[in-house]
Amino acid sequence: MSSGQLEKILKSNFGYATFRPQQKEIITNVLKGNDSIVLMPTGGGKSICFQLPALILPHITLVVSPLISLMKDQVEALKTNGISASFFNSTLSELDKLSLIEDCNSGKIKLLYISPEALVNSKDGWISQLKISQIAIDEAHCVSMWGHDFRPEYQQLGELRKQFKDIPFIALTATADKITRKDILHQLKLNEPTLFLSSFNRPNLSLKVKSKVPKKQKQKEILTFIKERITQSGIIYCLSRKETEEWANFLRTNGVNASYYHAGLPPDKRSKVQEEFINDDLHIICATIAFGMGIDKSNVRWVIHNNLPKNLEGYYQEIGRAGRDGLPSTTILYYNMRDVKMLFDFIQESEFKQIYKEKLQRILQYAEATSCRRRILLSYFSEHLTEDCGNCDVCKNPPEFIDGKIIAQKALSAVYRTKESIGTITCINILRGAKTANIFEKRYNFLKTYGVGDNLSFNDWQHYITQLINQGVFEIAYDEHFNLKITPYGYQILRSETDIKLTRPLTKEEIKAKEKSVKKKSKKILSPNQQLFEKLKELRRDLAKQKGLPAYIIFHDSSLKEMASEMPKNAEEMMQISGVGEAKFRKFGHLFLDEINTFIPEEQTLRLSKISTYEQTLQLYNEGLSLEELAMIKDVKVDTVVNHLIKLLEEGYDINLNKFIDDKVIQKIKEVYLKLNQPEKLKTIFDALGNKVEYYQIRIVLALLNK
Ligand code: ADP
Ligand code: ZN
Repeated sequence: MSSGQLEKILKSNFGYATFRPQQKEIITNVLKGNDSIVLMPTGGGKSICFQLPALILPHITLVVSPLISLMKDQVEALKTNGISASFFNSTLSELDKLSLIEDCNSGKIKLLYISPEALVNSKDGWISQLKISQIAIDEAHCVSMWGHDFRPEYQQLGELRKQFKDIPFIALTATADKITRKDILHQLKLNEPTLFLSSFNRPNLSLKVKSKVPKKQKQKEILTFIKERITQSGIIYCLSRKETEEWANFLRTNGVNASYYHAGLPPDKRSKVQEEFINDDLHIICATIAFGMGIDKSNVRWVIHNNLPKNLEGYYQEIGRAGRDGLPSTTILYYNMRDVKMLFDFIQESEFKQIYKEKLQRILQYAEATSCRRRILLSYFSEHLTEDCGNCDVCKNPPEFIDGKIIAQKALSAVYRTKESIGTITCINILRGAKTANIFEKRYNFLKTYGVGDNLSFNDWQHYITQLINQGVFEIAYDEHFNLKITPYGYQILRSETDIKLTRPLTKEEIKAKEKSVKKKSKKILSPNQQLFEKLKELRRDLAKQKGLPAYIIFHDSSLKEMASEMPKNAEEMMQISGVGEAKFRKFGHLFLDEINTFIPEEQTLRLSKISTYEQTLQLYNEGLSLEELAMIKDVKVDTVVNHLIKLLEEGYDINLNKFIDDKVIQKIKEVYLKLNQPEKLKTIFDALGNKVEYYQIRIVLALLNK
């Protein structure tokens, strides 16, 4: 099959114009009849790797899937794309089973989702009579005892390879740690499978960690965060069932519709909550980690952890539930030392204490990182980024380092003089010369170090001691009241044999300034594009209700976003939108076209005092000023003004860039740009034109070309 043909099938059946990384190679491998193991992060696009071959291969494809809810959704999604699919599991009546078996035999069905136990049970029965073209094993990590989701039935799937000799097997998972990978290979007994290992980097997820935020403030922060994105879906993960209920209640009393979910709820309540979430009827779920596995919802825009997760695998999986559609999504991890103690107490009772403790250490290091978090996270999964990510809180706000020797020595000597018998709080109290009962009782006020650190606040000391722990100056004796112990490295610092750098805590003014800038940003007026996007979402919600389908199965957010910015006017333009295939166009296309064609943006009422710099640019532009005048009034460079205008144009505002630039110049830049094969760097074009044009002119032309 020529490669253009695969793309054609992709577009007409799934609505996508191009393949994601690896998809095409995997599909080709399957079509050649080879076995494959696919390791791809959540949202990477695994399903298409067996669904597309299923359409090409002559007979049926069996898809082994562990979760009934997952099966149902995938089958719905396929049907909406006009593909004949069905599922077979214990929820079906005997009668339904019989008619389904008949449909499979007659070749009516291209993809059959089946639970592992059903497949194992009937592999010598009706399944052995079927003409099968491919067997896909989804969530293949379930085969491994080391994974977080072991299912004994999966281990029996190893028998299948022998029985169905001449057809390709494909095993897929988003869990990539090495032991699990080996287990999949070993237990499924695949036939010299080709391994497809994708990058696990999810650049669209922003990473942020906040430590030691008092509960009241945390509630305030999260409430504000949610109110700024009231139409978006998100999950708050909590360690305990009780906390999930507390959070849901707190949000509800503050006017936010939220529900809770944990394993202690009756099954019907659980599936109800889950369904509401998937259907966009409920935007926020406060849940234990029992929630999420198998939730194939692409438009989760944020995930917040209320506590520190047990390990980085779990954490990565949980934040990975956000942004499966590839659009920017936010993740925030809150934690405090109480979490650490609780987790440590859990671990004590386990026979794998040592391993768990190490894993906990790793996630603590991540949480306390002073360098790019994504690099730390991915290096845990043996993937090494060569550059800082630019989308984590550390990259966005690099810490400022100071010489920390004196600070460290003061803390070290307090611990040393108390014979390592104190925890962080007592240590700080000694350093600050606190007058507490405990201090006088233990006669700490007679120590030489008493009061030597009273120039720093309690919070500052806490900030520094946490870093000292992370940098390996102190160790916490978790099993001895969390007392601080001095490490060999700590002794070196105490004896002035080595230096240490620490990050400076922010001052109150700095924190305030930051909060202000965040608040300013959030006071945005919806741009026309955003308004239309909200309208299209409404339409989708209505349709979903009517048809009893999950909203995202109709169109993903990413498709709606593209419609809102491209504003297709007719069928042909609509078919260009990613995610619009033939079947979906027939079913829903005209409804969305109508909505777009009749859309009129609401008047923008701007008040000068509150408007953002973009909006100010827009107003001045509307007054007909030249670029230079704009730049002068705003006291910025022409380049900045141009950037604003381009951004406004992209957001759907009516901006005419042509009027700022001579047609001849446009022509010249265009020619060079195309001749050089559309280089990425502006400088390439700039140089090629021998410095005869301005950078901003190049930017304008590129923006015009993009439009
Ligand atoms: P996974 O099973 O790996 O978590 P899915 O198969 O559910 O991922 O795919 C994630 C999302 O990406 C889905 O919404 C899917 O429709 C979309 N997707 C898959 N392949 C493509 C592609 N080639 N172009 C655009 N979107 C795609
Ligand atoms: Zn980073």
